[in-house]
Amino acid sequence: MKVFVYSIHEFDKPFLEIAAKGKHHLMFTEQPLNEDTAIMAKGCDAVAIFTSDSASTKVLDKLHELGIKHIALRSVGFDHVDLKKAKELGMKVGNVPEYSPNAIAEHAITMILALNRKIISANRQVRDYNFKINNLIGFDLNKKTVGIIGTGKIGAVTAKILHGFGCKILAYDIEQNEYLKKYLNVEYVDLNTLCQQSDIITIHCPLNEQTRYLINKINIALMKDGVMLINTARGAVIKTEDVIEGLKTNKIGSLGIDVYEKEKGLFFEDHSNSIMKDVMFTQLLSFKNVLITGHQAFLTNEALQGIADTTIFNLDSWQADGVSKNDLI
Ligand code: NAD
Repeated sequence: MKVFVYSIHEFDKPFLEIAAKGKHHLMFTEQPLNEDTAIMAKGCDAVAIFTSDSASTKVLDKLHELGIKHIALRSVGFDHVDLKKAKELGMKVGNVPEYSPNAIAEHAITMILALNRKIISANRQVRDYNFKINNLIGFDLNKKTVGIIGTGKIGAVTAKILHGFGCKILAYDIEQNEYLKKYLNVEYVDLNTLCQQSDIITIHCPLNEQTRYLINKINIALMKDGVMLINTARGAVIKTEDVIEGLKTNKIGSLGIDVYEKEKGLFFEDHSNSIMKDVMFTQLLSFKNVLITGHQAFLTNEALQGIADTTIFNLDSWQADGVSKNDLI
């Protein structure tokens, strides 16, 4: 297949090229897919896109006009694709349903540990030869209550790791995982109870119409004073504006985010020589108890290998049979 690959990065290009084994003609651009760049895919059968791309109604119309029949997502999440429109247009959309849930779960845990033990401040102080530790007090994770929102593949691995720390685990999900209940003593509760009882809340559900702004001022008000909130899922699952208010009043004691609701056009690029126009983001950066990474939770060799292999598998399947087991529609 002739495939136009949008938003390619140095970190994923070699994995894709090796996985393709010369079977497909891959053409690359660092540019994201949008209404202006859709035209670049002219003459191709498929596009391969990343979370920073937009496959909105208008973009899909353009791709369809150009004869694109397949959209290979290099991600688990598909909130950046208008699936209803793609179906109407008869396009195939396939994702990477699982690559390494460990990568993302481990990143969430990294954030919990770094925030709790104030690792960033500690390192900064030591580099300044300031060895006073008065401001670096953390807490034992052992016996703390952690609320996991979304206990799918990533949430389940997160639960396993936290169980090892001796945490009590509460969970909120529209489907319960019997294994987690039986073997890790995970207790499913409603969202309000999870918010009320958790010392740490970590989010692992997809972004969809039900989960947009799932965490907002109403349930932040229910949370324990000083709660730690971690989001490695999608930015808009939390209402950032409300979380900032929670940080200002110390209701939220610390925040770790790998995703940000306005990350499109910001993350995955070097903006170090431009003026930051996103006031909400600069506000987040002003808090010492906020840790931000730029959507890198998936960035392990194992995950990149998995993404590349499944993306190529989807293209192979479409070429051979017209369908893939990872088709979303
Ligand atoms: P998954 O489909 O295995 O699990 C998602 C879980 O969320 C499921 O158990 C599902 O029942 C639950 N869920 C769905 N709707 C819900 C709702 N309204 N309320 C509560 N729970 C709900 O997916 P996964 O592989 O565990 O990935 C979870 C999310 O993590 C992805 O959708 C993606 O957005 C995000 N993600 C982020 C990164 C990153 O690099 N930061 C990488 C991969 C995935």
